[in-house]
Amino acid sequence: MADSILILGGGFVGLFTALHLRQLQCSCPVILVDRSWSFVFKPLLYELLSSEVKLELICPTYDELLHNSGVTFVLGAVESIDLRQKQVQLNSGLQYSYRHLVMALGSTTGYLGTPGAEDHSFPFRAPDDVFALGQHLRNRLQLAAQTTAIAGANIAPSRPRA
Ligand SMILES: Cc1cc2nc3c(=O)[nH]c(=O)nc-3n(C[C@H](O)[C@H](O)[C@H](O)COP(=O)(O)OP(=O)(O)OC[C@H]3O[C@@H](n4cnc5c(N)ncnc54)[C@H](O)[C@@H]3O)c2cc1C
Repeated sequence: MADSILILGGGFVGLFTALHLRQLQCSCPVILVDRSWSFVFKPLLYELLSSEVKLELICPTYDELLHNSGVTFVLGAVESIDLRQKQVQLNSGLQYSYRHLVMALGSTTGYLGTPGAEDHSFPFRAPDDVFALGQHLRNRLQLAAQTTAIAGANIAPSRPRA
């Protein structure tokens, strides 16, 4: 729909922009695009790691969050944006025209050029990162429980490469 407000990315910025626009009873159709079915409430990722909250609590689906809001959710990864033609191409093959575009695609993990930081640390932005870190901690605890050597035990962190 060429008269729509197209919001790319359903994180805090994109999701709340979409809901706010509907609250203001904006007359244009509002379309929210994200590559995932569910929102991630990042401030509670620590509690997911410590098993104080369940995944469903911090990752509600966009269908749940946008129910009856008037916002249309589209699943897909943004592949390209043509600002001149006002068109966005998704990896699903779908193409969207827009009147207004909101880019809210977030950021990526940065290491500020620190040598070794990427190899010896875990990213912590998504549930999969939490599960990888949790598994690593459990493995290290098992290893520590099995070793009799106190000094010189090699339990320095090193992240398994994907
Ligand atoms: C562990 C942790 C704890 C935090 N705690 C706090 C806190 O307590 N208080 C606070 O103020 N901030 C906190 N933050 C920071 C806060 O989460 C970020 O500032 C916020 O998420 C940024 O919102 P955003 O919408 O810009 O990006 P994001 O939340 O990253 O959202 C970007 C969205 O874009 C989607 N996307 C990306 N690329 C594409 C693509 N090509 N196609 C389609 N969709 C795409 C992603 O799936 C994602 O849903 C925390 C962050 C982390 C990692």
